[in-house]
Amino acid sequence: MALRTAEEYKKGLQDGRKVFILGKPVADVTEDPYIKVGVETAAFDFLMGHHPDYREIAVMKHPETGEPVSSYFEIPDYPEAVGKRHELVKTACYFAEGALPFVKDVGTDIINGLTAVAKIMGNKTYIDRIHTYRWHCAQKDLSMAGLVTDVKGDRSKGPGEQKTPDYYLRVVDETTDEIVVSGAKAHITAGAYVDEFLVIPTRNMSEDEADYAVAFAIPANSEGIVQICRPNFRYEDKYHFPTPNPKRGHVESLVIFDQVRVPKERVFMLREWEFAQYVAYAFSAFHRYTAVTYKIPILEYMTGLGLLAAEANGVHKVSHIRDRFIEMIKYTETTKALAKAAYGEPEDFGGSGMYVANRLNSNMAKLHFASNFHEFVRSIQDIAGGILVTQPTYQDWQHEELKPYLEKYMGGAGNFTAEERLKLMSMLHHIVASDFAGWHEVCTIHAEGSFAAQKMMLLAEAPMEMYKEKARRAIGLNV
Ligand SMILES: Cc1cc2nc3c(=O)[nH]c(=O)nc-3n(C[C@H](O)[C@H](O)[C@H](O)COP(=O)(O)OP(=O)(O)OC[C@H]3O[C@@H](n4cnc5c(N)ncnc54)[C@H](O)[C@@H]3O)c2cc1C
Repeated sequence: MALRTAEEYKKGLQDGRKVFILGKPVADVTEDPYIKVGVETAAFDFLMGHHPDYREIAVMKHPETGEPVSSYFEIPDYPEAVGKRHELVKTACYFAEGALPFVKDVGTDIINGLTAVAKIMGNKTYIDRIHTYRWHCAQKDLSMAGLVTDVKGDRSKGPGEQKTPDYYLRVVDETTDEIVVSGAKAHITAGAYVDEFLVIPTRNMSEDEADYAVAFAIPANSEGIVQICRPNFRYEDKYHFPTPNPKRGHVESLVIFDQVRVPKERVFMLREWEFAQYVAYAFSAFHRYTAVTYKIPILEYMTGLGLLAAEANGVHKVSHIRDRFIEMIKYTETTKALAKAAYGEPEDFGGSGMYVANRLNSNMAKLHFASNFHEFVRSIQDIAGGILVTQPTYQDWQHEELKPYLEKYMGGAGNFTAEERLKLMSMLHHIVASDFAGWHEVCTIHAEGSFAAQKMMLLAEAPMEMYKEKARRAIGLNV
């Protein structure tokens, strides 16, 4: 069935999955006012494959059957695949008007990470299973979420030391043909509106924690899976000024596994505890680069909003505002340059023959992005003024008695009419001053790994010996 349409994708989500939001069950995720934001954003992935301008980048031939499948499923077993992936993710984000559709990249980053680790382990069964699964998803054109982060309870303790053994997802039973798992994975982007869940461990495990060293794939509507979603913003937004396209974004969920049965042909790691951390590490080697790639269109867009806000307020020639411009440009272009450096130097992951972007540079890019985002937002908030949080809403604009007042008093500098200035400030409110803006700031720090995760990767990947050797030689040290 290769290459589904957006409508086919949406229809596929009406499959009896157990999803809750605001304390109520959701009968159809495609119609829920909050989850619909994510469904429509994800749908871009399926629109892209049928769009004449994007088909070349979004579609490839299945290597055996020649049928068209999504390019996300390509095996990155040659260096140039990394640059192609960068273009695919970036283009998808531009096409989806600033948000990443998110329902194939994270899943295939996990498939690629599992493939690399299975090859490094030399485990033919796992290599074959993950290969079969990759092409099953490609041929059915399935959407996927990546379930890595456990709920974790007491962070200072390992999985086996927690007061509740299910704080980390684990195997609770096993037969010849299947395993049974319990636990919960947190903050899962797009969980409510994907076909498949790919589950891997989030950390290292000791030998007596082997039941926690498990990786598998399972349909999202499987018996025993319950999702609790957190609303972000509504699809039908009457409060902000309308834009040519609805606002894009995603919805996360807490995914509970209550004695879920997983057939063994969908299990890609079972109690190989020595490799648990390596699977998490391999996934982040693939995914952290996806993460910085999709930030680029967002930063360009936000920089544009800041520049326009200065023009709307007539402060674009003022020296301290121009200093803000310099900071915004420096931040956006440095993130882009680091991302470019990362895909410009692809690496063979652990000798597996699977290529990732340069890990030092992609972690530098993510750390730079996450460390400076709040200051970037502060610049935009400074430029735009208090109207960011006090502006009249679109409902006021539509009111016949109020509109003349707003037309008179809300006008801006140059050619900015009241309507244009309010439209711009309305979007700026959404991006840097709303509940969603708070979500975005936290997302920047934690999603795709917190600061500590990137710093650990920097220490692991930086050429420390090379640095020291240069210093030793210069001084004539023999230590
Ligand atoms: C919007 C959003 C979307 C996300 N999407 C996904 C997704 O699709 N799939 C997925 O699997 N995950 C997802 N995540 C989860 C993300 O990867 C985690 O939030 C991140 O890894 C941090 O974990 P945490 O939230 O449990 O924070 P914590 O682990 O509680 O971290 C809080 C602080 O404690 C520190 N800390 C934690 N444990 C230790 C320790 N043992 N020793 C020392 N310091 C410690 C951390 O460094 C950090 O400073 C998403 C997160 C967000 C915010």
